[in-house]
Amino acid sequence: MKTDDNCIFCKIISGAIPSNTIFEDDDFKVILDAAPATKGHALILPKNHAANIYELPDEDCAKVFGLAKKLATKMTDKLNCDGFNIIQNNGEIAGQTVFHFHMHLIPRYKGDGNEDKLCWNHAELSDDEVKQIRDLLAE
Ligand code: 5GP
Ligand code: ZN
Repeated sequence: MKTDDNCIFCKIISGAIPSNTIFEDDDFKVILDAAPATKGHALILPKNHAANIYELPDEDCAKVFGLAKKLATKMTDKLNCDGFNIIQNNGEIAGQTVFHFHMHLIPRYKGDGNEDKLCWNHAELSDDEVKQIRDLLAE
Protein backbone atom coordinates (compact mmCIF):
# COMPACT_ATOMS: atom_id res chain seq x y z
CA MET A 1 0.00 0.00 0.00
CA LYS A 2 1.53 3.32 -1.10
CA THR A 3 1.28 6.19 1.41
CA ASP A 4 2.60 9.76 1.53
CA ASP A 5 3.62 11.14 4.95
CA ASN A 6 2.68 14.67 3.90
CA CYS A 7 -0.78 13.77 2.60
CA ILE A 8 -3.79 14.69 4.74
CA PHE A 9 -5.96 11.94 3.24
CA CYS A 10 -3.25 9.31 3.93
CA LYS A 11 -3.32 10.52 7.56
CA ILE A 12 -7.11 10.17 7.62
CA ILE A 13 -6.86 6.69 6.10
CA SER A 14 -4.31 5.58 8.74
CA GLY A 15 -6.47 7.06 11.53
CA ALA A 16 -3.79 9.62 12.55
CA ILE A 17 -6.39 12.31 11.77
CA PRO A 18 -9.98 11.52 12.79
CA SER A 19 -12.82 11.49 10.27
CA ASN A 20 -16.47 10.57 10.05
CA THR A 21 -16.18 7.27 8.20
CA ILE A 22 -19.28 5.86 6.50
CA PHE A 23 -17.67 2.91 4.71
CA GLU A 24 -14.37 1.03 4.80
CA ASP A 25 -12.96 -2.08 3.14
CA ASP A 26 -9.45 -3.27 2.15
CA ASP A 27 -9.18 -0.76 -0.70
CA PHE A 28 -11.22 2.32 0.23
CA LYS A 29 -12.26 4.58 3.09
CA VAL A 30 -15.29 6.80 2.57
CA ILE A 31 -15.59 9.86 4.80
CA LEU A 32 -17.92 12.80 5.22
CA ASP A 33 -16.45 15.98 3.72
CA ALA A 34 -15.32 18.50 6.37
CA ALA A 35 -16.83 21.39 4.35
CA PRO A 36 -19.88 19.74 2.79
CA ALA A 37 -21.71 21.17 -0.21
CA THR A 38 -24.88 19.48 1.08
CA LYS A 39 -26.05 17.12 3.83
CA GLY A 40 -24.21 13.83 3.30
CA HIS A 41 -21.42 15.09 0.99
CA ALA A 42 -18.86 12.28 1.16
CA LEU A 43 -15.46 11.47 -0.34
CA ILE A 44 -14.30 8.07 -1.61
CA LEU A 45 -10.59 7.73 -0.79
CA PRO A 46 -8.56 4.85 -2.24
CA LYS A 47 -6.23 3.61 0.55
CA ASN A 48 -3.38 3.43 -1.93
CA HIS A 49 -1.96 6.96 -2.34
CA ALA A 50 -2.28 8.26 -5.89
CA ALA A 51 -2.31 11.99 -6.61
CA ASN A 52 -4.94 11.88 -9.34
CA ILE A 53 -6.67 9.72 -11.95
CA TYR A 54 -3.50 9.51 -14.05
CA GLU A 55 -1.62 7.87 -11.16
CA LEU A 56 -4.48 5.71 -9.90
CA PRO A 57 -3.72 2.01 -10.49
CA ASP A 58 -6.10 0.32 -12.95
CA GLU A 59 -7.42 -2.05 -10.21
CA ASP A 60 -8.53 0.89 -8.01
CA CYS A 61 -9.92 2.65 -11.06
CA ALA A 62 -11.99 -0.38 -11.97
CA LYS A 63 -13.42 -0.68 -8.45
CA VAL A 64 -14.16 2.95 -7.65
CA PHE A 65 -17.24 3.47 -9.79
CA GLY A 66 -18.83 0.27 -8.55
CA LEU A 67 -18.44 1.58 -5.01
CA ALA A 68 -19.78 5.00 -6.06
CA LYS A 69 -22.92 3.34 -7.42
CA LYS A 70 -23.41 1.27 -4.27
CA LEU A 71 -23.02 4.31 -2.01
CA ALA A 72 -25.09 6.67 -4.19
CA THR A 73 -27.90 4.13 -4.06
CA LYS A 74 -27.66 3.70 -0.28
CA MET A 75 -27.30 7.44 0.39
CA THR A 76 -30.24 8.31 -1.87
CA ASP A 77 -32.35 5.77 -0.02
CA LYS A 78 -31.29 6.88 3.49
CA LEU A 79 -31.09 10.64 2.90
CA ASN A 80 -34.06 10.85 0.57
CA CYS A 81 -32.22 13.24 -1.74
CA ASP A 82 -33.67 14.37 -5.07
CA GLY A 83 -30.58 13.87 -7.24
CA PHE A 84 -26.88 13.11 -7.01
CA ASN A 85 -23.59 14.56 -8.30
CA ILE A 86 -20.45 12.47 -8.59
CA ILE A 87 -17.46 14.74 -9.13
CA GLN A 88 -13.76 14.02 -9.40
CA ASN A 89 -11.23 16.85 -9.87
CA ASN A 90 -7.72 16.43 -11.31
CA GLY A 91 -5.22 19.29 -11.14
CA GLU A 92 -5.42 22.75 -9.62
CA ILE A 93 -7.08 24.28 -12.70
CA ALA A 94 -9.83 21.68 -12.39
CA GLY A 95 -10.47 22.57 -8.73
CA GLN A 96 -8.37 19.88 -7.03
CA THR A 97 -7.11 21.08 -3.63
CA VAL A 98 -6.07 17.78 -2.02
CA PHE A 99 -3.65 15.79 -4.14
CA HIS A 100 -4.76 12.31 -3.14
CA PHE A 101 -7.34 10.97 -5.61
CA HIS A 102 -10.89 11.27 -4.30
CA MET A 103 -14.38 11.08 -5.68
CA HIS A 104 -17.04 13.45 -4.35
CA LEU A 105 -20.46 11.95 -3.63
CA ILE A 106 -22.87 14.88 -3.36
CA PRO A 107 -26.52 14.24 -2.58
CA ARG A 108 -28.66 17.00 -4.11
CA TYR A 109 -31.86 18.37 -2.64
CA LYS A 110 -34.45 20.67 -4.16
CA GLY A 111 -33.61 24.18 -2.91
CA ASP A 112 -30.15 23.21 -1.62
CA GLY A 113 -28.72 26.50 -2.93
CA ASN A 114 -26.22 24.87 -5.28
CA GLU A 115 -28.39 24.98 -8.41
CA ASP A 116 -26.06 27.41 -10.22
CA LYS A 117 -22.78 26.16 -8.74
CA LEU A 118 -22.03 22.90 -10.47
CA CYS A 119 -22.01 24.16 -14.04
CA TRP A 120 -19.70 25.78 -16.59
CA ASN A 121 -19.66 28.37 -19.36
CA HIS A 122 -20.02 27.06 -22.89
CA ALA A 123 -16.87 27.41 -25.04
CA GLU A 124 -17.36 28.98 -28.47
CA LEU A 125 -15.72 26.55 -30.92
CA SER A 126 -15.76 26.79 -34.68
CA ASP A 127 -16.76 23.75 -36.77
CA ASP A 128 -13.09 23.43 -37.77
CA GLU A 129 -11.94 23.37 -34.14
CA VAL A 130 -14.52 20.71 -33.28
CA LYS A 131 -13.40 18.61 -36.26
CA GLN A 132 -9.73 18.99 -35.23
CA ILE A 133 -10.50 17.87 -31.69
CA ARG A 134 -12.57 14.94 -32.93
CA ASP A 135 -9.80 13.83 -35.33
CA LEU A 136 -7.14 14.19 -32.61
CA LEU A 137 -9.11 12.19 -30.03
CA ALA A 138 -10.42 9.53 -32.39
CA GLU A 139 -6.88 8.68 -33.66
P1 5GP B 1 -11.04 18.84 -4.12
O1 5GP B 1 -11.27 20.32 -4.22
O2 5GP B 1 -9.56 18.50 -4.01
O3 5GP B 1 -11.72 18.06 -5.22
O4 5GP B 1 -11.75 18.39 -2.79
C1 5GP B 1 -11.12 18.33 -1.55
C2 5GP B 1 -12.21 18.13 -0.51
O5 5GP B 1 -11.63 17.64 0.67
C3 5GP B 1 -12.94 19.43 -0.17
O6 5GP B 1 -14.34 19.25 -0.41
C4 5GP B 1 -12.64 19.62 1.32
O7 5GP B 1 -13.73 20.14 2.05
C5 5GP B 1 -12.28 18.21 1.77
N1 5GP B 1 -11.32 18.16 2.88
C6 5GP B 1 -10.13 18.82 2.94
N2 5GP B 1 -9.50 18.51 4.10
C7 5GP B 1 -10.31 17.65 4.76
C8 5GP B 1 -10.18 16.97 6.02
O8 5GP B 1 -9.21 17.12 6.77
N3 5GP B 1 -11.22 16.15 6.38
C9 5GP B 1 -12.31 15.96 5.57
N4 5GP B 1 -13.27 15.15 6.03
N5 5GP B 1 -12.47 16.59 4.39
C10 5GP B 1 -11.47 17.42 3.98
ZN1 ZN C 1 -2.39 10.28 0.24
